[in-house]
Amino acid sequence: GKKCYLMKKYDSYTSFITCFFYPESLKGAKVLVTGASTGIGEQIAYHYARLGAQIVITARRENVLKEVVKKCEDLGAQKALYIAADMANPTDVDRVVEFAEKKLGGLDYLVLNHIGPSPYRMWDGDMDHIRWLMQVNFYSYLQMTVKALPALEKSKGSVVVVSSMLGKMCSPYALPYIATKFALNGFFGSLEHELVMKQSNVSISICILGLIDTESAIEKVKGYIDMAPYPAHEAAWNIIKTGALRQSESTYPSYVYFGMLFRDWFPTHRDMVIRGIYNYKP
Ligand code: NDP
Repeated sequence: GKKCYLMKKYDSYTSFITCFFYPESLKGAKVLVTGASTGIGEQIAYHYARLGAQIVITARRENVLKEVVKKCEDLGAQKALYIAADMANPTDVDRVVEFAEKKLGGLDYLVLNHIGPSPYRMWDGDMDHIRWLMQVNFYSYLQMTVKALPALEKSKGSVVVVSSMLGKMCSPYALPYIATKFALNGFFGSLEHELVMKQSNVSISICILGLIDTESAIEKVKGYIDMAPYPAHEAAWNIIKTGALRQSESTYPSYVYFGMLFRDWFPTHRDMVIRGIYNYKP
């Protein structure tokens, strides 16, 4: 559709930044991507593969991971391996990082992207689900980062965190998910300060996404929201670029940037607009 003036300006600004991105620099890069059996994570794996990176992918379903690895090899990955793991299990979380570092002989990029399934409906007070989702979507991200930091410090590497506009703005229907994304933005944004203050070699990148056309997201929002989703392969490319440029934060698509920019100007109107976007049929 037609874009407003500000969005066009922003897009030309981001394409200017992109001039500094050399995809060739990712040839041979040692990368671990989580949640890579489907959706955006799968597309991230394919982009890295096309660029000739060495990748380890992980998720729970071994049979699907096998297929993704096969495709990565066909696309030109220097190395493509998988390890099946459940991020709800802290032992699995460490095992994945150990596997990647051992098989790749180090690590340049830790791309944290997985999310556990969570219902899309008004909150029913289920505390067990929130605790479980915090482990999968939040604590496991921290644990992997702690485990990978020494290797990333050695390689001057990067942690890339996939987050959401729903981690920046309050909305109905996905409270447990939103809580985990707010937690991620708060934690990794603050960790970045500490790493810079300590003059660490490791960069932190947080990628803030709007609605993307993955099967799971579209299935969830169907009937609740009438909004055009953006393509997963473009979101994935944006994520890879953000990490390679060591940018601390990026947004995709551009409406996310403007949403965040104007978020606190008129809070009452903002909240009316947000509630107006969603359908509610009790
Ligand atoms: P998907 O639901 O398509 O993929 C989720 C991935 O996580 C799958 O590979 C799944 O594989 C894996 N996973 C699920 N549970 C676990 C678990 N317990 N342990 C390990 N892996 C697990 O998600 P999307 O691609 O839509 O989203 C990817 C990222 O993008 C997320 O961080 C999400 O918050 C973010 N995002 C997405 C948006 C969208 O509209 N799609 C919007 C904003 C942000 P398996 O089932 O095999 O374990």
